Amino acid sequence: MPIVNREKCEGKAECVAVCPYNVFEMGIVSPQDRAALSFVGRLKGTAHGWKQAFPIHAEACRACAECVASCPEKAITLKRVAVA
Ligand code: SF4
Repeated sequence: MPIVNREKCEGKAECVAVCPYNVFEMGIVSPQDRAALSFVGRLKGTAHGWKQAFPIHAEACRACAECVASCPEKAITLKRVAVA
């Protein structure tokens, strides 16, 4: 499943465009997640209106890595998860 680094994502939505399985949607970072960021992360988030990508359908991911390659901020990594 894809993991979006909240410190790096700048909401450019390349992952939304390239994912063949519609895993991502754009959304707004929650106040709780904002509070956990570094000073630089909060500056970047504020500059982009806190718009970032969220893997809301992570279960649909097929690990093609198109999103990893497309992200200009290198904000996405893939994490192996056990499937029940
Ligand atoms: S690895 Fe492929 S299927 Fe999974 S979220 Fe990224 S683009 Fe979509």
